[in-house]
Amino acid sequence: MLQLVFASNNKNKIKEIQQLVPSDIRILSLEDIGCDVDIPETAETIEGNAILKANYVTKNYGYPCFADDSGLEVDALNGEPGVYSARYAGLQRNDDDNMIKVLTNLQNQSNRKANFKTVIALNLNGEQHLFTGIINGEIIHEKRGTNGFGYDPIFVAEGYHKTFAELSMEEKSAISHRGKAVKQLISYLQKM
Ligand code: IMP
Repeated sequence: MLQLVFASNNKNKIKEIQQLVPSDIRILSLEDIGCDVDIPETAETIEGNAILKANYVTKNYGYPCFADDSGLEVDALNGEPGVYSARYAGLQRNDDDNMIKVLTNLQNQSNRKANFKTVIALNLNGEQHLFTGIINGEIIHEKRGTNGFGYDPIFVAEGYHKTFAELSMEEKSAISHRGKAVKQLISYLQKM
């Protein structure tokens, strides 16, 4: 039985992944391996932070591991907030403050294009693999909807009219950056 650490303590994320991976793989959380440190996310890119977290576990605990990192990239803001998405408006990490900052920075801006991106870094059998999921869309002018989290109320995916916060969790996962990256990870693990 392959024991594979998911560098997360989010019980829902762990459970969801456990149900998707082949049945001969057991997913362990950080808590399961006795890692109670807040792994520093000090890299300057989304890829970098995913790699940092996966490497921290593999180097310090010796387990194969994968870690994810995500963010919103706005074209007219040169890819901001990007790796700073969670703390764009400050260390209070407040979703409303962050959305207001994006909307303010885009005032009078006609190019509203944006994308969400998730990178999963997998360390397995001495190799590192990166899986990237992207969903393109645009930033609307005001918040709509109450589902989801983060920037969901101001993001509408290409070909859709509803914001991510107006979609159900299932509808969002079927098209989201995170859903796409997870699908690539799963299909890689299935082919091993
Ligand atoms: P994380 O790496 O998944 O923790 O994402 C970092 C930050 O990016 C979050 O705190 C959100 O601000 C933003 N973000 C990532 N994924 C999503 C999403 O699916 N919807 C809305 N915001 C997101």
